[in-house]
Amino acid sequence: MKYNEILRNGEHTLAAAGIDDAENDARLLLEEASGIDYSHLMISMQDEVPEDVVKKFNDYISLREKRIPLQQIVGYTEFMGLRFHVNENVLCPRQDTEVLVEIVLKDIESSKRKMAGALEPANNRALKVLDLCTGSGCISVSIAKLSDASVTACDISEKALEVARQNAYDNQANVRFFQGNLYGALPQADKYDIIVSNPPYIRSDVIPTLMPEVKDHEPRIALDGSADGLKFYRKIIEKSPDYLNPDGRIYLEIGYDQGAEVINLIRSCGYEDFHIIKDYSGNDRVIAATYYETNA
Ligand code: GLN
Repeated sequence: MKYNEILRNGEHTLAAAGIDDAENDARLLLEEASGIDYSHLMISMQDEVPEDVVKKFNDYISLREKRIPLQQIVGYTEFMGLRFHVNENVLCPRQDTEVLVEIVLKDIESSKRKMAGALEPANNRALKVLDLCTGSGCISVSIAKLSDASVTACDISEKALEVARQNAYDNQANVRFFQGNLYGALPQADKYDIIVSNPPYIRSDVIPTLMPEVKDHEPRIALDGSADGLKFYRKIIEKSPDYLNPDGRIYLEIGYDQGAEVINLIRSCGYEDFHIIKDYSGNDRVIAATYYETNA
């Protein structure tokens, strides 16, 4: 069989399985199976495909036909320009979450500039960042890799942490990982300048309506935010002042319709300067707020 033939067959199979972007997925799976990038495949479309590549491609297509996410089939995805290993034990990093990471990176940069201008050189130290519900580690590893902050990350799932540790290792990022429920495993005296989290925030009743890739193949504990979707925001926000340095900041990813509710939680806990940042599609995506020293 020729490349164009197996590609077309793959596309048809995926389209028949109800996959929206069947063409793109088939192309990516062929790139992965052959180890040849698409620009080179385009000029080889009339060539015969080696047997082992046909088999690998067909195996990938059968997995994708079962609505297994593409990233889980190939075993990785890209986030913040870095490569992240993923499997069924972690939420696949979403592009929207890059907005959250970029805001935290900006904060770290501007804090550094402020510290550099401070009178006491002792103030000039690495910022401490805590990432709760780290999952694949996409947030913590990106921040550790792309800034000089000192990063700690927690997750309740040991299986997720295995993936996160692997991602830290592969990206040569230095992250301190703890397995535990939110703040549960942290040393009590730990204080951070920034707390960041993309916790599970989908309402339980919405989960059955999600795409099969998400509802059937991504870990439910990474998605489910309880009946009102807010369980983890409540817990994270409530305890956060105990773990923040004076004037510490919190950055939380939120669902497009959760801004008002999460702002209420943040406000009632004593945070100030809260604002909402939109994602690339124009939806509310991140809440940022500061806990001033006078509150502490
Ligand atoms: N923090 C990880 C991410 O942003 C995992 C989030 C989660 O499991 N809810 O992808």
